[in-house]
Amino acid sequence: MNPNESERSVTLSLALQNPQHIQQPAEAVSNAAVNDAVPLDFIRHIITDDLATGKHQKIITRFPPEPNGYLHLGHVKSICLNFGVADEFAGLCNLRFDDTNPTAENQDYIDNIQKDVTWLGFKWSGEARYASHYFQTLFDWAIKLIQQGDAYVDLQRPEEIKLNRGNFYTPGVDSPYRDASMDDNLTRFKQMQQGHFAPGAAVLRAKIDMAHSNVHMRDPVLYRILHAEHHQTGDTWNIYPMYDYAHPLSDAIEGITHSLCTLEFEDHRPLYDWLIEKIGFDLPPRQIEFSRLNVEYTLTSKRKLKRLVEEGVVQGWDDPRMPTIAGMRRRGFTPDGLRDFCKRVGVSKQDGVVDVGLLEFCIRQSLENSAPRAMAVLNPLKVTLTTLPASQRLSHARHPQLDLGVRDIPLSHLIYIDHADFSENPPKGFKRLVPGGEVRLRHAYVVRCDEVIKDANGAVIELRCSVDLDTLGKNPEGRKVKGVIHWVDANTAISAEVRLFERLFNKIDPEQGDDFMQNLNPDSLKIVQAKLEQSLGQAQAGERFQFEREGYFIVDEISPTAAGDSPKLIINRILDLKDSFKPV
Ligand code: ATP
Ligand code: MG
Repeated sequence: MNPNESERSVTLSLALQNPQHIQQPAEAVSNAAVNDAVPLDFIRHIITDDLATGKHQKIITRFPPEPNGYLHLGHVKSICLNFGVADEFAGLCNLRFDDTNPTAENQDYIDNIQKDVTWLGFKWSGEARYASHYFQTLFDWAIKLIQQGDAYVDLQRPEEIKLNRGNFYTPGVDSPYRDASMDDNLTRFKQMQQGHFAPGAAVLRAKIDMAHSNVHMRDPVLYRILHAEHHQTGDTWNIYPMYDYAHPLSDAIEGITHSLCTLEFEDHRPLYDWLIEKIGFDLPPRQIEFSRLNVEYTLTSKRKLKRLVEEGVVQGWDDPRMPTIAGMRRRGFTPDGLRDFCKRVGVSKQDGVVDVGLLEFCIRQSLENSAPRAMAVLNPLKVTLTTLPASQRLSHARHPQLDLGVRDIPLSHLIYIDHADFSENPPKGFKRLVPGGEVRLRHAYVVRCDEVIKDANGAVIELRCSVDLDTLGKNPEGRKVKGVIHWVDANTAISAEVRLFERLFNKIDPEQGDDFMQNLNPDSLKIVQAKLEQSLGQAQAGERFQFEREGYFIVDEISPTAAGDSPKLIINRILDLKDSFKPV
């Protein structure tokens, strides 16, 4: 048991005592389905009713990322939900960048978010949208609020505003600027935009109720001053709307019917509804909250993932150990595996932590049904086949079920097997090669280990084995050979650098303790020099394989080397073959 296992079993036993501790995927899966693929969760129930009662003729949802980082596994859930329900109910889903914070945003994030959504298999309605394209309308509506007596410019200092907001136990205190005249407010608001005030010197606030039991309703800030260039609007604006102001109104502008967001926005819903009502819309969008996706050992916060990139802990947002969509794509995870995962997790209002084994199970399922098989030796040990009369060309199917054709498997008197498949002091139950013992070479013959050759330090460097030539495709006469090992012909082998990944964090909750950086797994990347069967010489970057007995792998890149040398092949291990998760 590795040190993490004991921690894990504590969580699992907690989960058994308290079923809310871990989200139960089975619950959602067992529900009735809209169609045979998707379970009917509470959101799909609401939409079904809204269509049945004629409240809406057609639904429109949106996926609204802030372009301040790369998307991660948590966003995959939101994407699958928003685009998924739009597809299932013949509606539309917009992609909208909620770009109200220009100092944290950039074009690279925008480009990659679009790439990620597309890669997951979804298509947004029309062009990508931007909250910033609505800035003029939002500004005009702020003026309308001031004219209605629903907003005012506050000139208190930021610390005063914070202090006077009160807290859960004490009501807030009205600002001395709260009852300024409409004209003063209009003048000041326009001056904010004209650059008359320094950042922090003035804000526009909604005039709601400083004693409201919900702190978010205590005259929330709608606009702040920010003398910053915006990636879409340049230097047009000196003031930028707050997310809480821009979001509901952008939803309304786009005719969103169901605005699906995570539970932390529940307390913001009264403000969402207040703004929609004050501006006035015939068909107001409805905000519905669902629980965030949390997965064991996985960090799902753009801000924290950004720290990993900036501090060089990983090699970029697309490092294959990252739970970003870019990282998972490079790691070799498949879009259909990720969609299947989200479907099995389901949608609810119950917070919980999902077993990372479920994610890996879904990815393996998807690969099992698609990845061609091949042989690769990760830790090569030379074996001389002393009695093989001549080189041979064997062949085998690329996939046991799918019709992916056959591949040639050359066999000569020099091959590689994995060091781990030979033992001089075998533990009990060891079925692979031992001195004097026999084993089957996968898709080939039974061999016997006659001699073990060692270097000066006593390390095994070569085995000499005889071949039973009467065992191709049949059992040997009069004896049973149980073990089967994979191998690669040495004369035709392709060399490759293989990257083996382990979890980036060694705690189930990576945020446990003071600083998540302390929970990093120092052994999350191991690089080995492997030998691959000849057919992999044709592989292209992005192709996925199952290396028999080893796991699933993807060609990361084929980089050119010095003239005359063959190009360098870099391969990522997607996952090994050991499934920890058993579906119910
Ligand atoms: P982060 O905390 O990582 O920055 P965020 O919520 O600020 O995430 P946004 O770009 O605002 O990131 O997210 C876009 C959408 O994705 C939002 O509707 C948000 O609710 C949803 N989302 C973000 N994280 C998760 C998660 N872990 N599970 C489900 N949905 C999520
Ligand atoms: Mg956010």
